[in-house]
Amino acid sequence: MPEVMLAGRAVPYTLVRNPRSRHVRMTLTPEGLRVSAPTRVPEAEVQRAVASKERWLLRHRELLHPAAPVLLEDGMALPFLDGEVELGVRTAGRPSAVFRPEEGRLMVAAPSPDHVRPLVERAYRRAARDWFAQACDAVAPAVGARPNAISIRDPRTRWGSCSARGSVSFSWRLLMAPARVAEYVVVHELAHLVHLDHSARFWALVDAVRPAHRAESAWLRDHGGWLWSAPGTGPGPPAPPD
Ligand SMILES: [Zn+2]
Repeated sequence: MPEVMLAGRAVPYTLVRNPRSRHVRMTLTPEGLRVSAPTRVPEAEVQRAVASKERWLLRHRELLHPAAPVLLEDGMALPFLDGEVELGVRTAGRPSAVFRPEEGRLMVAAPSPDHVRPLVERAYRRAARDWFAQACDAVAPAVGARPNAISIRDPRTRWGSCSARGSVSFSWRLLMAPARVAEYVVVHELAHLVHLDHSARFWALVDAVRPAHRAESAWLRDHGGWLWSAPGTGPGPPAPPD
C-alpha cells in the first residue's frame, strides 16, 4: 500500500488508476484514504497532489485512523439524535432488542458479547424507518415533493440517495447525528425529487427550505468518520453545527 506523509505520519492509501479521470481525486472511506488518478500521472505526482491536501485530510483524522470496533457493553451511553440512550445488555439464548428512545433505553438480550453490536444496529435501523418516515412527512410540504418509498441502508460513501423512480434512502447512522443534520439530509434528498441533479435550481430550493444547510452539511463532512465508527467509539457525539 502506498503511503503519504501527513503531519509527520505515514498515512497509507489505496491507489486506483482510472483511465477516464482527468485529475487526482481523494475520497475518505471507512477503510481509509482512497486516491483515484489518471493512468498517465506518475506516482510521485500523485503523492504531491495528496500531500497538498494535507489540511483537508487532517480534518478527517478519524477516517485516516479508523477506530477498532469496540464491544458494546451494559450501561454504555449510545448517541441518539440530540441525546443519548443507555444500553442494557443481558445474556440470553435468544437474541432480541427493544429500543425505547423516548425512555432513553435500548435493551438487548444476546447469547454472547459479539452479538450485541449487530442487534444494536438492527434496532437503530428499525428506529430509523419510523424517524425518517416522519421527517419526510414533515418536510414534504415545504419541498413540494413526497417520496413513494423510503429505505434504510448503510452506504459507505453517502448518507442519503434518491432514485429517478421517486424513492429515497437514508443511512441509519444519521440517527447518531444531531437531529438538524439528519433533517438536512431529508431536505436534500426530497429536493432531488424535484431536481435530480446538483444544479443552481436544486440549491436554490435547498436554500429556501433549509437556510442553515451549509453548517449542517459541514458537520457531516467533518464528523462522518465518527458516525462510521460509532456507536461505542468515544468521544462523541461531536458538538452540533453552529
Ligand atoms: Zn445530492
